[in-house]
Amino acid sequence: MTDPSSTRITPGLAGVPTQVDVVVIGLGITGAGVALDTVTRGLSVLAVDAHDLAFGTSRWSSKLVHGGLRYLATGQVSVAHESAVERGILMDVTAPHLSRALPMVIPFNSSVSARQAAITRGGMFAGDLLRRGAGTSPDTLPKPRHLSATEALAMVPSLRSAGLRGAMLGWDGQLEDDARLVTTVARTAASYGAHVRTRARVLSATATSVQLRDELTGTEVSVTARTVVNATGVWAGDLVEEVNLRPSRGTHLVLRESAVPDLQVAVFAPVPGETNRFVLVLPQPDGTLYVGLTDVPADGPIPDVPEPTEQEIGFLLDVVAAAFARPLHRTDVVGAFAGLRPLLDLPDADGAEGSDETADISRRHAVLASRTGVVTIVGGKLTTYRRMAEDAVDAALAGAGIDAGPCRTRSLPLLGAAPRDVLAGLEQDPRLVRRFGTDAELVLASAVETTGLPEDELLAPVDPDCPVTLAELVFAVTHEGAHDVDDLLDRRTRVGLVPADRHLAMPAAERALALALAGRVRL
Ligand SMILES: Cc1cc2nc3c(=O)[nH]c(=O)nc-3n(C[C@H](O)[C@H](O)[C@H](O)COP(=O)(O)OP(=O)(O)OC[C@H]3O[C@@H](n4cnc5c(N)ncnc54)[C@H](O)[C@@H]3O)c2cc1C
Repeated sequence: MTDPSSTRITPGLAGVPTQVDVVVIGLGITGAGVALDTVTRGLSVLAVDAHDLAFGTSRWSSKLVHGGLRYLATGQVSVAHESAVERGILMDVTAPHLSRALPMVIPFNSSVSARQAAITRGGMFAGDLLRRGAGTSPDTLPKPRHLSATEALAMVPSLRSAGLRGAMLGWDGQLEDDARLVTTVARTAASYGAHVRTRARVLSATATSVQLRDELTGTEVSVTARTVVNATGVWAGDLVEEVNLRPSRGTHLVLRESAVPDLQVAVFAPVPGETNRFVLVLPQPDGTLYVGLTDVPADGPIPDVPEPTEQEIGFLLDVVAAAFARPLHRTDVVGAFAGLRPLLDLPDADGAEGSDETADISRRHAVLASRTGVVTIVGGKLTTYRRMAEDAVDAALAGAGIDAGPCRTRSLPLLGAAPRDVLAGLEQDPRLVRRFGTDAELVLASAVETTGLPEDELLAPVDPDCPVTLAELVFAVTHEGAHDVDDLLDRRTRVGLVPADRHLAMPAAERALALALAGRVRL
């Protein structure tokens, strides 16, 4: 079984078109969204990444589809509303298969004052107003409510009971995985005809051209375009010097689910002494928990892969340990990751330099036109990628005088999307349905066709302790542009977040690459 997107995400620059309407630089969620927006307006598109799909910040997030509660608390009402609207679009229309409603419990224990509890309660109800204002049904995200201490303990038996006065229960969206969202958006763009290239670095850009280097061969290629969009996140200033960013580092820990037994809901552990600041404990679909996150300024050169510090790890463990009955230790941490938020460094209202607290810097996105004419889109978040892309493309087309169709992405389901009742009725392998929606059948059928292996073998976990399947690894190579073991383990799947599991899955990744290569020769 073939589909048109299978040939369009390709590593390197071989056969790349040298003239297109739009070049998009960067294939994180923002660039993938811009590629989808432009190609579905009827334009020809080349979208490139220096490394791989979701190589940058987009794979280091908390994987939440935010309603913007936090922004409401800091008075950024329009950012909060926009977030809530985009959350609804993502969960109901574009990606129901990659998102789900996540119940969140905020315990009120002895470290939370009555005032803090009242503010939290008010915030949750205000968040629900946002949901209603955005037109999102309570069937998608139920209303918040107060829990007594007994109800809170029934819902989260591992909570520390001493000093527990009650809790709030609220709901937000959770992604299956952030890198999977990026890959799905990129594959959808490719299915509409976008040329999506990884290992393709932009060395320089103007309003109408880019100089590219194939990172596999070293070959350089010039491509001309009617407009160029820079969606390179924290690296945006490398290509356009006027862009002034103030990145902040957010760190998460990865624990086995056994570290906090019977946790079916997210717990927001309040940071003692602070209002509106929590450490999140987020159960994941693959049997792990993420604990995050910090928000510290990250000055200096931007690394390819940011590293968490021991200080951040200690802080997260201490805050969370205070909320649960079982003590947590450094040995419970089986993985850790950090990401850099591409925040704009905005001057204060008086025009002086930016705030000292990165937590206070605006989370809103910005579309910036540079002297060279390159349009840069930066800031924002995963949740709002669609709206960011729409704003960037509107500005780029207006700036270049390009007449194209209107934005279509608001009502355009990503590949594999379907209403939740349809997804619930699918009979394919549950893991594939969770990660590919209605494309689960395509994933398995194309892996069978490529490898000649029986379905049972392709669907078996690659190791008793690692749920990844050979089917999805093979599909990642044939349809999602995966080029090497790192692409497979660190971005198409996220097994690499736990180094011990990565080690277990390595032979399967190598086998998938070999099988896909042999299949390409055979078919
Ligand atoms: C810790 C943390 C937690 C977060 N949690 C959430 C959350 O739960 N929900 C949410 O909605 N948002 C969240 N966010 C925000 C969100 O993750 C980011 O806003 C978003 O991922 C940024 O995506 P991007 O595409 O702009 O940048 P990136 O993902 O960094 O993509 C930029 C890409 O550009 C490429 N590139 C760079 N230079 C070049 C070049 N010269 N040529 C070609 N390619 C190049 C890079 O390789 C990279 O792949 C979080 C952020 C952080 C840091």
